[in-house]
Amino acid sequence: MKVNFSLPTSVQLGNDIIQQSSPQWIIGFKALIVTGKHSAIASGALKDITDCLEKEDIKYHLFDEVENNPTIKTCQAGAKVAKAKNCDFIIAIGGGSPLDAAKAIAVLATDVSAQNMVQNSFDTALPVIAVPTTSGTGSEVTCYSVMTREDLGTKLSFGNSYTYPKFALLDPKYTYTVGEKTTIETAIDTFSHLFEGYLSVKSNPITDIIALEGLKKFGEILPYLLKRQFTSDVREKLMYLSLLGGFVLSQTGVTVVHAMGYAYTYHHHTAHGAANGFLMNTYIGYLESIEPGKLAMAMSTIGLARNELKLALDDLLGLPPIIEADILEQYTQETLINQKSVENTLGGLTSKEILNLWQIQSKIN
Ligand code: NAP
Ligand code: FE
Repeated sequence: MKVNFSLPTSVQLGNDIIQQSSPQWIIGFKALIVTGKHSAIASGALKDITDCLEKEDIKYHLFDEVENNPTIKTCQAGAKVAKAKNCDFIIAIGGGSPLDAAKAIAVLATDVSAQNMVQNSFDTALPVIAVPTTSGTGSEVTCYSVMTREDLGTKLSFGNSYTYPKFALLDPKYTYTVGEKTTIETAIDTFSHLFEGYLSVKSNPITDIIALEGLKKFGEILPYLLKRQFTSDVREKLMYLSLLGGFVLSQTGVTVVHAMGYAYTYHHHTAHGAANGFLMNTYIGYLESIEPGKLAMAMSTIGLARNELKLALDDLLGLPPIIEADILEQYTQETLINQKSVENTLGGLTSKEILNLWQIQSKIN
């Protein structure tokens, strides 16, 4: 048996956790608060954070320019502000996009070049406090930051031990304002982290236990997603699930599902979680011949057969964008850019097999 588990983030989940754990998470003299345009305000998280900072007489500056699927350019702009305002810690509020951007800003603000950052060639970063407002990415407990790479024509992650958030503060009420579509898409992202993590070559007995617990709970929450019934109890469970997904992902990484999903997002503007969901049945088909035993364990833990899961995902997400046959080779090459995620996939995927997966995918519509 081989076990490797390291998670340096201090995690707290609960109602009013920001107020209850303050000033423990205030770990500097001036904060750069990193957000998107609306959700930090709409969720109430920004006010809770700034109230706590003001109570402790801690200064802050707001950088609210993070777009969905953030670019390095945006993060460089954020780092410029952090440096100009002499911020010594970062508070990220939002979905995965602001959380990931904050990690990049934290690195770039210490004068690491963008090139060194994306190659994981750095050993400095400002400390980050992560406050998620979606239940999906688990970014609050991973070192990963996914950047849109216009230079490569895809998305690609970086991250090392310096990019783990210092604190992850999760209050389910911040997700009450997330709309139906994003609630579903982010929940599918969580499912994908649990499922891919359980079936990753880097899985180990500890990640397996967490992943199976998450998959069981996903099976229990699925009927509520299908009914579009998002009570406070459901929201709390989704946030807990997202955290479990993050724990798993932080150790196992993701697999070819995420690597292929970036093509949907980059070229068709598909939301990240939906992109993973669109690929799931194709991935399961591939795994049936590669790892039938572990796959069967995952499916029975969720409590669904392959076709039942497919029907549920079809109901939740609808049909994927149409992919033309002449683009499949290009998408295969872009998938291969996410080399680590491809390598994490069981069975040692070749480029020919990835092309085959894209061919199957192109025949769905
Ligand atoms: P997101 O891109 O952060 O946000 C999607 C939309 O939801 C935005 O319009 C956002 O508004 C809105 N939103 C967020 N919280 C809200 C709230 N409480 N109420 C109302 N609207 C809200 O979505 P995400 O799915 O959480 O993150 C996706 C990103 O994370 C992708 O770039 C993906 O590649 C990455 N990711 C990272 C990891 C990791 O380990 N680091 C893992 C998986 C995925 P605003 O713009 O106003 O904020
Ligand atoms: Fe994801």
